[in-house]
Amino acid sequence: MDKKKIVIALGGNALGNNLPEQMEAVKTTAKAIVDLAEDGNEIVIVHGNGPQVGVINNAMTEFAHKDGSEPTPLSVCVAMSQAYIGYDIQNALREEFLNRGAKLPPVATMVTQVRVDPEDPAFRDPSKPIGRFMSKDEALKEAGDRGWIVREDAGRGYRRVVASPKPKEIIELSAIRAMADDGQIVICCGGGGIPVVAEGKHLAGVPAVIDKDFAAELLAESLDADMLLILTAVEKAAVHFGKPEQRWLSEISAEEAERYAEEGQFAAGSMLPKVQAAIRFARSRKGRTAVITLLEKAREALQGKTGTRICEK
Ligand code: ADP
Ligand code: MG
Repeated sequence: MDKKKIVIALGGNALGNNLPEQMEAVKTTAKAIVDLAEDGNEIVIVHGNGPQVGVINNAMTEFAHKDGSEPTPLSVCVAMSQAYIGYDIQNALREEFLNRGAKLPPVATMVTQVRVDPEDPAFRDPSKPIGRFMSKDEALKEAGDRGWIVREDAGRGYRRVVASPKPKEIIELSAIRAMADDGQIVICCGGGGIPVVAEGKHLAGVPAVIDKDFAAELLAESLDADMLLILTAVEKAAVHFGKPEQRWLSEISAEEAERYAEEGQFAAGSMLPKVQAAIRFARSRKGRTAVITLLEKAREALQGKTGTRICEK
């Protein structure tokens, strides 16, 4: 089989929802990744951080309440989550390579900043809920005290919402490339990256969340990868998902995928960003392929046996 340069985007199921779940989940995740590495592929890993950054953000906010200090900015919470998750994945990969008696490649995490455009329209319509639920009074107080934007969340109370701008530039790209070219497994752009905007020479963290599927796509293009492999909790994307006429998609062109997306076949905030990232990657250069599949089916998907494969025909 051809050896490929693959950017893997790991979904929430690769890490679980809390500390003990993550310790277990990374073992399965490591198996899937080491399979691909043992086949000779060059691997760069991007991962989500929803539950982890949620816990860190809640803890830091509580602490600030208690001691009256400024709450830790969300961008710093993302940086913390990258380190914590990278630490667990590094360890799990190391153990899996050793268990197989395989040669252990260097595995390292790169704390990654991703530049966003301060004029991104997403900043005018923050929609991504983060942190704990609050009563209306509490939410309005936080909004006044801290400048948070708060919104009612499906009858369950109020939450802070932040923007989800598009990634524009991966600041640590050349370091990531040097490590990957050297045969190292790199974990980077965690949680979509630490969102920053350029203020002269300074990169300022902004309270926002970048979609990890879009960040993985930008990384895959920037590294000139052959494949964007999006590993999630379903084996394939489907049309009429969850309905009696549901149909799994195996091999589709970018054009076909776009048509389905326009029809509203993929849920916003879950499958839609994956399909959009896949389309963008497939169109970015001939021969580039994006595959969406189940974490445990990564190797099979690479052999063309399963998954939803999107390429320019
Ligand atoms: P991740 O953490 O991997 O990003 P998400 O929950 O954000 O996962 O997105 C994957 C989920 O999208 C699937 O588990 C599935 O429930 C849902 N989904 C929504 N629409 C579709 C669709 N058309 N086909 C397949 N899955 C879909
Ligand atoms: Mg998701």
